[in-house]
Amino acid sequence: MTKLWNSYRYLILRRTTQFGVLFLYFGANAWGWTLLMGNLSSSLFLGIVPLSDPYALLQMVAAGAILATDLLVGAFIVTLFYLLIGGRSFCSWVCPINIVTDAAALLRRKLGVDAISKKQPASRNMRYWVLALSLVLSFAMGITAFEFISPISMLHRGIVFGLGFGWAAMLIIFLLDLFVLKNGWCGHICPLGGFYSIVGKLSLIRVHHNEENCTLCMKCKVVCPEQQVLYMIGKESIPVLSGECTNCARCIEVCDDDALGFSIRGLAKNKKTGEKNESNK
Ligand code: SF4
Ligand code: SF4
Repeated sequence: MTKLWNSYRYLILRRTTQFGVLFLYFGANAWGWTLLMGNLSSSLFLGIVPLSDPYALLQMVAAGAILATDLLVGAFIVTLFYLLIGGRSFCSWVCPINIVTDAAALLRRKLGVDAISKKQPASRNMRYWVLALSLVLSFAMGITAFEFISPISMLHRGIVFGLGFGWAAMLIIFLLDLFVLKNGWCGHICPLGGFYSIVGKLSLIRVHHNEENCTLCMKCKVVCPEQQVLYMIGKESIPVLSGECTNCARCIEVCDDDALGFSIRGLAKNKKTGEKNESNK
């Protein structure tokens, strides 16, 4: 039982958080709960604290909208929160699409579609181009371009309000990730993930690698949705500094050698020397 918990503790916590957040939104809509009202773009926590998606706000700015104070305050709170805990923690701990893409990645591995060394036919930097394009289109068309077609909002609306094409969007993403491109949507295309990757460059909470414990089994790379961030495996004792890490902690859970764990940026020490890691400062 303890082994099972150790192997899946973060996954269980993540799913609890993801479904919990959806349930709170659902409860607000169905039963008038006031703990978390609204949607993933704009919410009210406890009836008073505004929470806004900073990327949606950027699109609104580009579209020339006049911003209400609570939107600005909400975006500030959310940005600050993810600056502390890791930008893409939103992806693995909150976003409902992550449940779909994790399922596709798991099935891909089970079916053997996946192979660690296989060259991907598309660049992971594509998401930053999509991000830039969404802002240009917002500016040119005077609308929040990505919000208009966002499968994240569609799925969220589908679950919470029972509306729209959320289930169709989910199926398309699932099939894309399963058969066409490994980690296709979240790891290559999603501009919100790209946005939070930029925020995450500065985040405090990091996965840290201890090279002296690493046995090069590569289990972490197999499960990681952003394998490129683990380039230091078996080479150096440094934290994962890329903002593309989602802090999903799957790498930590699957490591039997205690070579990976969470740390606070600048505080993790090199076990060999007892010094703070240079690249960690
Ligand atoms: S990359 Fe986009 S869709 Fe995927 S989990 Fe992050 S925000 Fe959600
Ligand atoms: S490095 Fe670890 S925490 Fe980061 S995305 Fe990969 S598996 Fe998740």
